[in-house]
Amino acid sequence: MKISFMGTGGSIPVSNPKRVKFGGNTTCVRFESECLPKGSALVIDAGSGFKPLAGTLIKEKVTDLHIIFTHWHHDHTQGFLLAGTTYYEAVKNTVWGPVEHGYGGRKVFETLMQSPFFPIDFKHRQVASHISFRDLGNTSSEVLVVHPTGGMKCFSASDLQRAETNGKMLTFRNDKFAVQECLVIRMMKTYHPESTICYRFEERPTGKVFVFLTDHENTSALPASLRTHLKEADLLVMDCQYKLKTYREKTAGYGHATADYCVEVALAVGAKKLGLTHHDPDSTDDDIEAIVQEGVEHLIRRITGGTEGIMSPGQDFVSALHDYQVIEL
Ligand SMILES: [Zn+2]
Ligand SMILES: [Zn+2]
Repeated sequence: MKISFMGTGGSIPVSNPKRVKFGGNTTCVRFESECLPKGSALVIDAGSGFKPLAGTLIKEKVTDLHIIFTHWHHDHTQGFLLAGTTYYEAVKNTVWGPVEHGYGGRKVFETLMQSPFFPIDFKHRQVASHISFRDLGNTSSEVLVVHPTGGMKCFSASDLQRAETNGKMLTFRNDKFAVQECLVIRMMKTYHPESTICYRFEERPTGKVFVFLTDHENTSALPASLRTHLKEADLLVMDCQYKLKTYREKTAGYGHATADYCVEVALAVGAKKLGLTHHDPDSTDDDIEAIVQEGVEHLIRRITGGTEGIMSPGQDFVSALHDYQVIEL
C-alpha cells in the first residue's frame, strides 16, 4: 500500500513564502495497491493537488481512473475542473461520492462547469463522453471492493459479511473472487456541515489499514461506530485545521478539528501512526509545527498520566503531512 498526499491544505489553495515545507495545495490523495487492476488509479478527492497528479497519471498511461470524493466543498473539487484527465478521452473517469441536498457528482460538476462560473461546459463532448458517476447513497450499508482482475464494485455490507463468515466468493461482472484477494473500502459519515465520507482502506492480502478522516470536527465523545471504523489503522490521517486557541475563540462549529482531539482519538482506536492534514490557509510552516507540538504535548500528558490500556507510541507517532509526501505501509 502506497499513499501519495498531493494536497494537504484545506479551504483554499495558498502561495505563501512562509509556507514552503507543507505546501499550499488542497486535498488530494492517491492510493496505490497490488489490489488495483493494472492501468487503473484510485484517488481520494480532487482539490488543487489533483492537477499535478492528473499529469502524472496521463504520463503513466492510466486508462481507468476512479476518484472517490469525501464531499463536494470547493477545496475537494476544484482540481478536477482543470485537470488534464478531465479533458483526455483516453482516460475513463469514474466519479464516486455522496449525495447532499440532491447533489451527486454529476449535478455538482454540471453546476460548477457552466457559464458564468467556468469557460468550458461540462456537457462539452470532450468532458462528458468519458466521465461517469456513481452515487454513494448508503454509506453505512455499502462497501466498495476492488480486485486486481474484477475491478471496483459496490457491494452491500451484508453481502460482504456473508462472504467473510461463510467463505463465499464475491461476484464481479462474470467472475467470482475471494475477499482475501481484495481491497475493501468501508465508509462512514464524519461530523462536518455537509454529508462527508470517511474512507477506511483494508488491504486484505497484507492486512494493512489506512483511514482518511478529513473535514471532521471534534466530538465530545467518540461514538462506538466511529471507534470501530477507525480501529487499529496502520495510518490514521485526520483533519487538524486549527490551533487550540483559534478553535476555542473563533472556529468551533466550522467542521474541523484540533490536535489534542486527534491524538485522543488515535490513542483510543489503537492507531499506529497519526498524520494531520487539512491545514488552515492562514497557517505558516511555523503554525503547522506548533499544531503538531500541541498534539505531542497532549500525547505526553496522556502517557505520563498512566491511563490504563493506552499503548505507548513512539516519538514520531504524530506528524503533519505535507504536499507530495509519500507513505508506504
Ligand atoms: Zn475541506
Ligand atoms: Zn468541507
